[in-house]
Amino acid sequence: MLRPHHPSRMTVRLAVAILAAAVLVVPGPVATAKSPSGPRALASATIDTHLGYMPQSTCSPSAKPGAKALLKLLIKTWGGRSSGISRGCGVGTRSEHKEGRALDWRMSVKKKSERKRVDKALAWITANNGEVALRLGIMYVIWNQRIWSVYYPELGWRKMPSRGSATANHKNHVHISLSWDGAYQQTSWWTGVPVASPLNSRCGKGGARACLPVIGRGPSPVPRAEVPASFTPAPWIVPGIGGSPQVGREQRAVPGTWVPDGAELTYQWTSDGKPIEGATAATYVIGPDQVGREVEVRVTATVDGVATTRSSRNTADVYPTVIKR
Ligand SMILES: [Zn+2]
Repeated sequence: MLRPHHPSRMTVRLAVAILAAAVLVVPGPVATAKSPSGPRALASATIDTHLGYMPQSTCSPSAKPGAKALLKLLIKTWGGRSSGISRGCGVGTRSEHKEGRALDWRMSVKKKSERKRVDKALAWITANNGEVALRLGIMYVIWNQRIWSVYYPELGWRKMPSRGSATANHKNHVHISLSWDGAYQQTSWWTGVPVASPLNSRCGKGGARACLPVIGRGPSPVPRAEVPASFTPAPWIVPGIGGSPQVGREQRAVPGTWVPDGAELTYQWTSDGKPIEGATAATYVIGPDQVGREVEVRVTATVDGVATTRSSRNTADVYPTVIKR
């Protein structure tokens, strides 16, 4: 549910800026509103941080409040219907639907008016380096066989290999996966308070024990604050990794915002903290011997002879190509 919202002049200004950035064209004929009501004001120019890709690791299919609220917001603003949030844990392969933190918004690429409205919604979500995506706790979006992820904004929309059907290729629905913070409606879009320490669903090796995050922050009063005139992305203080941690998949190191200008970068991929021999490029393809291990990357930035090394963290354990039950 949306909490009571108190729009201010500055909030409206931010909403207008987001709209402008989203390059909106003519409003669709069926849409009930031009854009969602503005986000809550923030106290500073820093917005929510995130942990990158966090794949399903438990079984908890009940629809989480953030997924419900976002689906409702999309339908209210741009029309369409729900194709569901929850999915049985025994159905198909790994999916955030099994943790109630993915939603399917039924829209069709074959219908021009629906396609146009989806284009507007996705422009709104991804504009300004994914400002709205970060504030909603969106991890990634799949539509029309293309994927956009918040942890890989510089790569934009990437074409996916065909999986066969219109449903499998996301031509009859938009799929949106949320972080745990987004799923629990704890991100700044809803609370007005940027996420500083993201929730991590991991508990122990292998993910055999079901474990769900505990909200430690509790409900906090929403500060009345001025919205900054310009948006500054949350700093990436550690390197990130792009790609699914799956055997045979290529991983890509995303160095982060801590790297000084002009620095020369070197990489060392690690397995459970130990260097992987020969894995010193920006990308690394995961081998079968890494199943169940934590593959991470150390990035060393050297500028004027001074070297700084930082490691990625909170990555998911590698999982096999075929998920065994
Ligand atoms: Zn889906």
